[in-house]
Amino acid sequence: MRRISIFGVTGSIGEQTVDLITRAGGPAAFRTVAVTGGRNVARLAEIARSLKAEIAVCADEVQLPALRDALGGSGTEAAAGPQAIAEAADRPADWIMSSIVGAAGLVPGMRALQHGTTLALANKESLVTAGQLLLATAKAHQARILPVDSEHSAIFQALAAEPMEAVERIILTASGGALRDWPTEKLAKATVAEALAHPNWSMGQRITIDSASMFNKALEVIETREFFGVDPDRIEVIIHPESIIHSMVGFRDGALMAHMGAPDMRHSIGFALNWPDRLELPVRRLDLAQLAQLTFRAPDTDRYPALRLCREVMRLRGLAGAAFNAAKEIALDHFLAGSIGFMDMSGVVEDTLDRLSAGPGLEKTAITLEDVLAMDHLARTRAAEAATGRAKGRA
Ligand code: NDP
Ligand code: MG
Repeated sequence: MRRISIFGVTGSIGEQTVDLITRAGGPAAFRTVAVTGGRNVARLAEIARSLKAEIAVCADEVQLPALRDALGGSGTEAAAGPQAIAEAADRPADWIMSSIVGAAGLVPGMRALQHGTTLALANKESLVTAGQLLLATAKAHQARILPVDSEHSAIFQALAAEPMEAVERIILTASGGALRDWPTEKLAKATVAEALAHPNWSMGQRITIDSASMFNKALEVIETREFFGVDPDRIEVIIHPESIIHSMVGFRDGALMAHMGAPDMRHSIGFALNWPDRLELPVRRLDLAQLAQLTFRAPDTDRYPALRLCREVMRLRGLAGAAFNAAKEIALDHFLAGSIGFMDMSGVVEDTLDRLSAGPGLEKTAITLEDVLAMDHLARTRAAEAATGRAKGRA
């Protein structure tokens, strides 16, 4: 029986993974090794019981007694804290879903790869912060990384059996997020609730705001560069409001392969779970006549500074991805807390990158995990300073 673990099981991707596992037979079909969550221990324990997991780990140490209580009599071990999450990734498994949100997903993913485990990667932040390191680790331990982000799953599928030399360009589609039809001058006043009203996809809170600001697409451009090894100038972004085409690969003969489907993450999660087989999945089938048309428009980089900033990050490379992601996470925290405005998020990230690129270290090559974690920490400190400066300016 295949041994699986799910990191970030209480989140949007985690829950959809549990849904697919449960439909496939749950504990009768898979042996669940570890499930991890952040703070929602009630739901974590419920999932651990239903999948009969060996161990359940929450990130929040304070909640360990509550997790133990909730698991009472189940036979599932309980543990807490980032270290315990990393150790859970050391437990032998055949397939691991990496769906923790943010840079916190990096260490457990690296640990899983070091054991040769197949990593289904939803946590794009791992590739943005430490792409080369992650791929080198996978290679050294003959571990496979399967993309779960819908765009990257689409590209992966379009590339099946095609050599990379034949690829001319990759076109990432973007829904445009909740505020796509707002006039640019109104964006600075957008509230958290407004930025959360995503038209097509139901996702975690953080990625939903990142979709509205296009920081999500900026991360995905970097993710594409790292994962598929394509030159940045071959990666394009197009706004496609219907979210039916999940991305496209353009080949040197002019052919464009598009991956289409209903906007449902269970497609790419299921693809990674069943790979290399293609099994039936409970996703809505497209009715093309009813859809009638698909539309596209070019994104405006004045409106979405994130799309310009990611180009600079790819030019710098080295530790710039770690700095970019960390600054973005802090800027988002401040926006969610109401202390900075929607457009201040890109301002905070730009200020942070400017300050850090003036000093040494950002362009460092041959990076280690320690380098990445140190840059992540430093960028968080700088971004918090930048955000506080902007919050004062607003007051
Ligand atoms: P959610 O916010 O819904 O879930 C995040 C998960 O991570 C939860 O289980 C949460 O626990 C846990 N978590 C939060 N902080 C920490 C931490 N510091 N340490 C350990 N665990 C933590 O996120 P999503 O499911 O939306 O996204 C997960 C990842 O997948 C992200 O990298 C995102 O970019 C990517 N992704 C998501 C898509 C989607 O459709 N949702 C699409 C493509 C990619 P708890 O809730 O218990 O606190
Ligand atoms: Mg995506």
